[in-house]
Amino acid sequence: MMNFIVLTIFPEMFKPFWAQGIIKRAIERNKISASTINIRDFAEGRHKVTDDRPYGGGCGMVMKPEPLAGAIRLAQKKSPNSITIQLTPQGRVFNQKTAQKLALYDGLILVCGRYEGIDERIRLNLIDDEISIGDYVLTGGELASMVLIDAVTRLIPGTLGGVDSAEKDSFSDDLLEHAQYTRPRTFEGEDVPEVLLSGNHKKIEEWKLEMSLIRTFLKRKDLLKNRPLSEQEIEILKKWCLDIEKIIHSKTLHSTDALSGCQ
Ligand code: SAM
Repeated sequence: MMNFIVLTIFPEMFKPFWAQGIIKRAIERNKISASTINIRDFAEGRHKVTDDRPYGGGCGMVMKPEPLAGAIRLAQKKSPNSITIQLTPQGRVFNQKTAQKLALYDGLILVCGRYEGIDERIRLNLIDDEISIGDYVLTGGELASMVLIDAVTRLIPGTLGGVDSAEKDSFSDDLLEHAQYTRPRTFEGEDVPEVLLSGNHKKIEEWKLEMSLIRTFLKRKDLLKNRPLSEQEIEILKKWCLDIEKIIHSKTLHSTDALSGCQ
């Protein structure tokens, strides 16, 4: 069972998150356990302050090391086989491959920063990995943690409805997923592709692969660059090349015709 422990000064944010959809079901089925540790509980004094001004000046506040260290050490004691991840815009950018790797761990301890981030000595001594969910800056690591937990949970066997739903998702094989259709057969004059109604599973699989390749080529060509191609995929690409050549050829003939018409 995957054990998620989130360290945050806003644990309330996670209550609705644990209580919906796939995450809720995964908890109920004992596929994951999910909890929070309030960093503020480890802060000293009557006001339980978790932040302080940055040394050297500058705007904003920095999360103090003592409460963070206390919270991280408790989480690591509770879940000794977990890795400790800091959510930060300076980390490596999260993607499906990282989600697949993280899904293999026994547990993930997720440290959410706030303000201008956390004291550097925490990063150096208590953090195993740093992850960003994209090249933009959020106000806190909580939403980033939720993104990571969601993406990882759906890769844990038994958490999704279909047996292989996650295996066929976009990015799992460096391909975007094919288009999806459901009832009705005709919607506002647009029909579902005939092949999907044919009941011919071989043809349906061929159509899905071709659509995946087309989508990836049109939307995310970069994914295809370093990806080996199967013989079937090469055949599909060759077929398109021929089709494109035919179109170009017919256009050339038309424009020649048009020119001769002008003379
Ligand atoms: N001053 C920091 C910097 O420039 O790197 C940004 C701090 S940000 C306002 C506050 C917290 O939000 C961070 O400590 C981190 O936990 C979280 N955060 C912000 N953007 C993020 C991102 N793209 N991915 C993951 N976490 C992020």
